[in-house]
Amino acid sequence: MSGNDGKIYDLLIVGAGASGMSAAIAFQKERKAMGLEKGHVILLEKNDRVGKKVLATGNGRCNLSNKEMSLAHFHSRREDYPKMVFSHVSQQDVLSFLSDIGIVTTSEGNKLFPMSKTAASVVDAFRYALEENSIEVISDASVASIKKDDLFRVESEDGTSYSARKVIVACGGACAPNLGTTGDGYKWLSTLGHKVYAPKPSIVQLETENSITKALSGLRLDADLTLVADGDVVAGHYGEVLFTDYGLSGPAVLQVSGEVARRIRKDRLTVPMKVCLRLFDEEMLSNIRVEIASRRENFGSRSLDQVLLSILPQKIGSMIVKSALDRPLSMPILSLSDQDIDKIIGTLRSWEFRVLGTKSLEFAQTTIGGADCEEFSADTMESDLVSGLYACGEVLDVDGDCGGYNLTWAFASGILAGSSCASEKAGEIDAD
Ligand SMILES: Cc1cc2nc3c(=O)[nH]c(=O)nc-3n(C[C@H](O)[C@H](O)[C@H](O)COP(=O)(O)OP(=O)(O)OC[C@H]3O[C@@H](n4cnc5c(N)ncnc54)[C@H](O)[C@@H]3O)c2cc1C
Repeated sequence: MSGNDGKIYDLLIVGAGASGMSAAIAFQKERKAMGLEKGHVILLEKNDRVGKKVLATGNGRCNLSNKEMSLAHFHSRREDYPKMVFSHVSQQDVLSFLSDIGIVTTSEGNKLFPMSKTAASVVDAFRYALEENSIEVISDASVASIKKDDLFRVESEDGTSYSARKVIVACGGACAPNLGTTGDGYKWLSTLGHKVYAPKPSIVQLETENSITKALSGLRLDADLTLVADGDVVAGHYGEVLFTDYGLSGPAVLQVSGEVARRIRKDRLTVPMKVCLRLFDEEMLSNIRVEIASRRENFGSRSLDQVLLSILPQKIGSMIVKSALDRPLSMPILSLSDQDIDKIIGTLRSWEFRVLGTKSLEFAQTTIGGADCEEFSADTMESDLVSGLYACGEVLDVDGDCGGYNLTWAFASGILAGSSCASEKAGEIDAD
């Protein structure tokens, strides 16, 4: 089936997520700024509605940016690429853009959220803006191929064909496939000659040696977490850690997970890695040492699994002792030597879990890898290989840390792609 009565769109965008919707609106805004009529823009979305992943962000609250915008929070094989893109569309530009479409923000710590703290309101604001900017949205339209001769020919799974002068690939990465992102863009971009780095999961749970984590499954604690690779500390974060059947989860773990993924090749860790949890600072550890010694005197007949009673939740306290000492927990506290107490204190200072890997892309919040940024201009987001082809958002080899960085990247790169499509060779775009 060919479709759309031979209509030629000025711009066709694949994917109505954070970057695609931003690109569509930015295109029309830029045309308006140039004194031009609105262009003919179409957004093709595989899901039955726009912004399904945005709805899931920040546990439904949408952590859309962060006050701490150091470039160290963005990662790409082309290291300076995020910096160059943000030099054209800054975080302030992103926040102004969001404000212009009716999204006002508030902060919680450094994290920025919509004031409503509901992701649905962000998607609603985008939906209204798409409508007000006369952008045609086709949902349940899964794109199957993108080809170029004089024009782009984009075909959806149901055989409908669309023609466009310019195309923006904004179909996201390969994580959370249940939300529509199944890595489809990599196939089209490869076919069009682009290099694509294999996708890996980031902001994802870690699989570790699990005899302890399984016993504590469902329990949480706050810890100063460090990630050690081949003896070197490569990442760290203070925050909540959740014990699970397979290993470790929780915000502190998700934050360092990208560093694990970057050290995995062909499903294997390239270096030995461990997660170390510090549960107390030095002053508290020295108080705990005194307390344990006093318990050996005063409560010597109690069993070892009670030695950290009221210092930590019961189950966690027992597992600390189990990790520190290789002996039955039913033995009396009296059996502790001074060296044993040192070992318990050592475990409270650095409770170690050998890392086996990460959970899969299915469980991740963002994708490491994707289309090589070397082949897309950081001034316009246009392909160096195929004129009129653009990419933005997670489909490119840029990933951000947990904390609003991925949405900031998606919005900024989408705005740059959309506005450059409108301003570049604007004379060729002639709304009819
Ligand atoms: C559970 C979860 C929570 C998250 N929380 C946060 C957070 O709080 N803060 C933050 O900054 N980041 C968060 N992220 C990451 C963030 O959502 C993404 O990085 C961001 O949405 C990427 O934007 P994008 O436009 O590139 O892709 P997406 O927003 O994923 O949009 C891509 C769109 O393209 C569509 N598509 C894919 N293939 C096709 C096709 N063949 N045809 C047509 N359409 C197609 C998809 O259905 C999707 O709608 C979270 C991610 C997840 C999974």
